[in-house]
Parts: sequence; structure tokens; C-alpha cells
Amino acid sequence: MMLAKGKNLDVVAQVERRGDARYISGDLRRTAYACLVAEIVDKVMEDRHPVDEIFELVVLTLQRLNDVKRVPRADAAWFVMRMLDVLGYAPQLQDCPDCGTPLSKAAGWFSPLLGGVLCPRCGAHDQGGSPLSVNGLKVLRLMAAGQAELYDRLRLSDQLLDEVEHALDGQLEYHLDRHLKSLDFIRSIRDGHRTPA
Ligand SMILES: [Zn+2]
Repeated sequence: MMLAKGKNLDVVAQVERRGDARYISGDLRRTAYACLVAEIVDKVMEDRHPVDEIFELVVLTLQRLNDVKRVPRADAAWFVMRMLDVLGYAPQLQDCPDCGTPLSKAAGWFSPLLGGVLCPRCGAHDQGGSPLSVNGLKVLRLMAAGQAELYDRLRLSDQLLDEVEHALDGQLEYHLDRHLKSLDFIRSIRDGHRTPA
């Protein structure tokens, strides 16, 4: 987008569309995840401070969300992890952030307040987090390491994606100190699609 400096507001002089968005606009879930991407960027970026890395990440994520062969939840989760990393809020996934014990191959507990995965002992006393299985921790570690190709090949179950989303979205909302409206919307359409247990 090219902007001409105006007296008060800048004027849009030229717009070039990058890529195709027809499958985003034709699909409520994909639109909801695209809104999440836009809302996060809107909240974290300062006006007139371009960050190439974030621009490229947004373009890539929107292209992925427009690809019907891909799972939008998985691509949005990858985006959130990358944003946490760029912002310096990457979660602690090797040692318990409360007591420092190296995390074993056991189910743990994700605490946005303490910024990482707690050992089972510390997790038992934490009120604000969410449970994380052994496989959930493995997925988060792989994402944190930036192993995109490996992540792309995973076939993540809904339950694993729930865990990963809970952890990453919780971490992001805690650090932004705001509630993201698009997350409410995503949860409401998902709950509407799920058959009651
Ligand atoms: Zn601990």
C-alpha cells in the first residue's frame, strides 16, 4: 500500500493485492483466523515502525489460511508462536519456570503467568493455566525451534491443537495484557460446530 502524506490523515495512493484471498473470504473459520492475525498485529505493532519479519510472516500466514489443503488452526498457532518469539515472549519449555527442575517426559501444566510449562508438582498449585500432555509439550518445542517442515507434516488431533492453542493464546493475551476479541469469536464458532459429549 502506498500512502501520500496528508495534512491530518495519510491518503491511500495505490494498493497492490498480494496473493489470493478467495478461500478466506468464503469460509467463516478461515476468516476468523485471518481476523486473529490482523488483530494481533494491530495490537503489537506501533504506527510507522515497520518490521519486515512481521510483514513477511503475516503475508505467509494469510497465504496459508487461503490454502484449503491446510489446517487453519495449525497455521494460526504457528503464527502465534512466531509472534511470541519475535516479541521476546517465547514460552519456557525446557525447565520449570517455578522451581527450575528440567521438564521430564511427563504431562505438565502451562502457566501464562510464569511463562512456560510447569513440572507436575508446581502445576498442581497453579490456578490460571491449562493442562499440557507429553505430546503437547513436544509440539510446542518443535514450534519454538522453528521446525516448520516437521510441523507441517504433523497430523495434529483436535485435542492436541486445543492444548497448543490454549497455551500459546494464553501466553499472548497475558503479555499483551488484553483480551483478543477474535479468539472469543473463534471459540464460539468452534463450540457451535462440536457435538456435545
Ligand atoms: Zn516446578
